[in-house]
Amino acid sequence: MRAFINKEACIGCGLCASICPEVFEMDDEDKAAVIADPVPSDVEDSAQEAADSCPTEAISIEE
Ligand code: SF4
Repeated sequence: MRAFINKEACIGCGLCASICPEVFEMDDEDKAAVIADPVPSDVEDSAQEAADSCPTEAISIEE
């Protein structure tokens, strides 16, 4: 699994980094960044949850 951020859609709410800090963190511009590529198998569920929870659907998941 891989995760991608659409930086233009990200509003910097921090939710994804809060739900799945193993994969997402906030960058210097307060946009989400992927820090684990590919997503480790033991956090795939929380990465998916983060994607599903993003208010602007800025996170896409590639299986
Ligand atoms: S949940 Fe969505 S909008 Fe919020 S920081 Fe993450 S990618 Fe950006």
